[in-house]
Parts: sequence; structure tokens; C-alpha cells
Amino acid sequence: MNTDPETATTTLAQRIAAEAARALAKPLSPGLHIVATPIGNLADITLRALATLQQADVVYCEDTRHSRTLISHFGLDAKLRPYHEHNADHERPRILARLAAGERVALISDAGTPLISDPGFKLAREAIAEGYNVVAAPGPCAAIAALTVAGLPTDCFLFAGFLPPKSGQRQTRLKALRETPATLVFYEAPTRVAECLADMLIVLGDRPCAVARELTKLHEDVRRGTVASLIAAIGDEPMRGEVAIVVAPPIAGAIGDDDITAALRDAMKSQTTRDAVRSVAVHLAVPRSRVYNLATLIERSE
Ligand code: SAM
Repeated sequence: MNTDPETATTTLAQRIAAEAARALAKPLSPGLHIVATPIGNLADITLRALATLQQADVVYCEDTRHSRTLISHFGLDAKLRPYHEHNADHERPRILARLAAGERVALISDAGTPLISDPGFKLAREAIAEGYNVVAAPGPCAAIAALTVAGLPTDCFLFAGFLPPKSGQRQTRLKALRETPATLVFYEAPTRVAECLADMLIVLGDRPCAVARELTKLHEDVRRGTVASLIAAIGDEPMRGEVAIVVAPPIAGAIGDDDITAALRDAMKSQTTRDAVRSVAVHLAVPRSRVYNLATLIERSE
């Protein structure tokens, strides 16, 4: 028997409502509940997030005005209190005292998963150390969303958060990550994407890469290519919105010293040793120090 689309939609809505009612009927345990919230699309809220925020004795958030929008949208009856980097040290003992009194405390951030480039780590650590129940109500996270649409290896990845805003410090941090055999996931301010990609090209080489902007929102946009091709595609175009950058792991072992030496010999015919080292390192996506050592060997043998 075929069900007409309208009836199917009504049935689905009823099932979702029944599941939400079940989640709401289940008593919330005392402890710290770390609740993920949408990163742009309110339909990404989970039923458990709604039930937890509704039942918690208090909901700590970064910005009460910001989170009030979410709470009002779903008609929740939640007591919001601020917990952000400026009041965290003062507020944390009070939250721990609530946990000691057996309260059900929820923690959310402005968007996505708390603790992920957001406040909450020290609170979770101290709550765990003091033996309280610490529970995750998982859900949206921009890093995971970006990773899943980047088209890059997902078997091993490293979330590296925000890079330093200044180029020198950014390159130093990228150097520390260069040999990591994992896909790298970064958050970045839209105004710094171009300069960040430029530093990635210098330090990491021309690896496969994706720039994911405004995920789950109206103007969602994912650009995939290599670091150099994305620099060319994005150019000086001012970026808007929220951005995550995903970069492929180094091609470990794929490029042997023989390949580098051959490329160097070729490049050194028309370039200074310094320029040849730089261009071969970028082209083959290998550390410049490795290319430099091989260039020294070539020079010695000539
Ligand atoms: N805790 C959040 C999470 O779980 O994704 C991240 C908070 S961090 C302060 C905010 C950064 O996450 C933004 O600057 C941006 O780099 C990234 N981000 C957040 N929402 C995003 C989205 N919809 N699309 C792409 N990146 C996003």
C-alpha cells in the first residue's frame, strides 16, 4: 500500500514528537551535561539536547543573549547563566558547588560542541577530578562537519583549532604540525583565510585541501583543490562567514630522495640553489630542510 506524501510526513512528525516526548520523560541525572547545539541550522538540534536543556536546573552558556535565541526558538524553559573566558575562574567553583549539591548542570557554547575551541575544558576536568557525573549530549561540530565534506582521509585526523594570527607564529605552528601523519583540521577567521593558505603553501607544501564556509547554513560553500589552487581560486576575494580549513596529510614515504634529487638537479639548472630548494619543497610538498640537505650533497658532488 502506497502512503501519500502528506500522510507520510504527518506520520514522521508524530514519530519525532513521540521520540521527543520519550526523551523528555526520561529523568536527567545529576551531573555536568555537555550539550552540542547547532552551528547554523537549527534543525540540527538533537532531541536529547532539547530534553537536557529543558530539564537542567541551570544552563551555562557563553553569552546569555545569544543562547536566549536558541532557547526561545524551541520554547524551552531554561535558566541561563554565563560561563565564558572572562568569568570562568570565578564561576567554576560555583558550578562545582552546584554539582556537589546534586544539581543537573548543562553547558552549551554559542554554537557547536562546547570545549572544541570553546570554554568548558577546565570545568569538565575539575568535575571529573571531583568524581561528578560528566555526560556528553553529542551533536554538531564544525570540525567534524568540515572533515566529512572535505574529501580527505578521515582514518586519522588532528584538530588544530585556530592558528596564531601573525604569520611568523603561524608558520612556526605549521612547522610543528608538518610531519603529522594525519589530516589537519583548522578553524580560521574569514579575513585571514588567504594569508593562512599562503603560509600553509610555504610550510606544508601544495597538499590537497578544502575550505569549508558557512556549513549547514544558507550560503554553505565548500571549495576543494590543493592549497595553491585554492589560493588562486579565492584570490583577494573577501571571505565572509565562518570558515574551517582541512589539509591532507603529508605523502609520507611516497617521495624518495632520488625524486627530490632529480627535481633539484633540474631546478638548479635555471635557479639559484636557494630558489631551487624552495620551489622543489613546495612542488613536492616535502620539508625544505630535507630538500636543502640534498641540495648540499649535489653541490658537494659537483
Ligand atoms: N565549538 C564550535 C564547534 O563545535 O564547531 C566551534 C567554536 S569556534 C569559537 C568557532 C569557529 O568554528 C569559527 O570561527 C569557524 O572557524 C568554525 N565554525 C563554526 N561554525 C562554522 C560553520 N557553520 N562553517 C564553518 N566553520 C564554522
